[in-house]
Amino acid sequence: MSGLLDTLTRQARLTTKRVPITSLAVFFVILVCLSLVFIDGWRSWTARNIQLHEMGISTSNMTRAIAQHAGDTIKAADTTLVGLVERVQADGNDAGALQRLHVLLVRRVDELPQLQGLFVYDENGRWLANSLPTTPPNVNNSDRDYFIYHRTHLDTEPYIGLPIQSRSTGAWIITVSRRINHADGSFAGVALATINIDYFKKFYDSFDIGRHGAIVLALNNGIMLTRRPLLNNYTGKSMANTVLYRDNISKKAAGTVFIVSAQDGVTRLNSFRHLDQYPLYVSSALSKDEILADWLTDTYVHTAGVAILLVVLGLLGFHLVGQIKLRLNTEAELVRTRDALETLNQTLERLALQDGLTGLANRRHFDIALDKEFSRAVREASSLALVMIDVDCFKQYNDIYGHAAGDECLRKISEVVKTNQNRPGDVAARYGGEELGVLLPGTDVRGAMAIAEKIRLEIHSLGIEHTGNSAGVVTVSAGVDAFVPIQDLDNPLELIQAADKALYAAKSGGRDRVCDNASFRVLRQTRVQPESVATGV
Ligand code: GH3
Ligand code: MG
Ligand code: MG
Repeated sequence: MSGLLDTLTRQARLTTKRVPITSLAVFFVILVCLSLVFIDGWRSWTARNIQLHEMGISTSNMTRAIAQHAGDTIKAADTTLVGLVERVQADGNDAGALQRLHVLLVRRVDELPQLQGLFVYDENGRWLANSLPTTPPNVNNSDRDYFIYHRTHLDTEPYIGLPIQSRSTGAWIITVSRRINHADGSFAGVALATINIDYFKKFYDSFDIGRHGAIVLALNNGIMLTRRPLLNNYTGKSMANTVLYRDNISKKAAGTVFIVSAQDGVTRLNSFRHLDQYPLYVSSALSKDEILADWLTDTYVHTAGVAILLVVLGLLGFHLVGQIKLRLNTEAELVRTRDALETLNQTLERLALQDGLTGLANRRHFDIALDKEFSRAVREASSLALVMIDVDCFKQYNDIYGHAAGDECLRKISEVVKTNQNRPGDVAARYGGEELGVLLPGTDVRGAMAIAEKIRLEIHSLGIEHTGNSAGVVTVSAGVDAFVPIQDLDNPLELIQAADKALYAAKSGGRDRVCDNASFRVLRQTRVQPESVATGV
């Protein structure tokens, strides 16, 4: 029985947490799903940033290599020009010197693969010597920008000219030139090296820059020399108006920046670098989409995996919450059953201890209460009082008014008795038939007499007609006794007998009265303290 009660109590406790547990389960599942999404999102975002960072470094390194290559290529051509200028200034331009010079130029062009040709012009632009097998007749280069530059500038630094189409081959070339002076420092002509743009193209083609990548070699003023992919209409065009040039290349020595192309709308990672020795810069660019292509594929695979995991988790979570709800419902059902059982138990208990007609305690309850209170009185050495009440001439009442009226009369009398239970320990019971008993713990004879008298008077005052009774109304007689019980000397039955005796005395005395049991108490006193009673002390 106690096991069942424990289980029910535990279930009741669980039921009080019903809403939080379900919510907690839902919250937990959502939290796990969100964490999964967040962790994968964070991982993916980090991987993307790492990929961009690494590609930024790669692009920067590639640009550095391209810049180095451009510098070395021009440096080799320029070094040849330095020697050439010295030689022309020293040897002059007589026929023999020019013939020897031609041999030298042919050899140098053979040695340096980037060189398309080497040329020496006099102060009027006429060809003095070149590396070509034959000199074209009547050609004059005084209109070329490099020639005009050197004629008008005294410095002897190398000059990188605008890209031009060769008059000899028709190919696009880059020019590197130096001024030749007479002994007095006046303009004596120009030494020119032409570099085939194709030389750069071959080098640029060796890089993997994807389908939308680009490599550019340009003058510092933004004029493009060459580009991969090679588009002819770009060569010689100015890039000065592009965002890349305007906001970045023209302002910094080197850098890496993302820019959306105005031409094709492709976002590219651009890395640029100016050459240290020459007024040139190079830039390389990779398409952002191509940089992130592998990352994107990886992200799609991960996202698909996470999506499947989320569906599985969601289904499991749904099942889990369902199971919890089911369990809680079962627990709630058990609690309801327990409550019903408790109510039933209380009813049974009431039925087992209560008198059905009067609502007073029944005889069984009275006996249990008497035993309990008697033991307590012994333990605490306190007085226990009993009032026995009997309705006067009740047989006649039944005879005159009928049994149903008798029952009703008994109920009214019981109500009066019930209202006179003043303390929690007081027990008013139907002792049997029309006889009632009132157990009064902690009460002496005087107190019990007072209560009994009050009950008697109140019943008399009810004024229930009873022509068979001498008073004309229903009355009761009561017998009272009380004492402090002593262990092993007294027993509960004695109290009942004593009160009964007192009741008998009340009946004998004419009814409608209360009597105590003075003779019994004297007798008892003799038993308890025989010597003092005998000697009269
Ligand atoms: P007295 O006690 O004054 O000497 O006279 P009496 O008529 O009351 O005597 P007695 O105790 O012998 O009679 C008790 C009567 O109470 C008998 C019975 O008919 C009646 N009685 C007992 N229990 C009930 C009950 O539950 N309902 C009704 N209506 N009458 C009851
Ligand atoms: Mg009786
Ligand atoms: Mg009676």
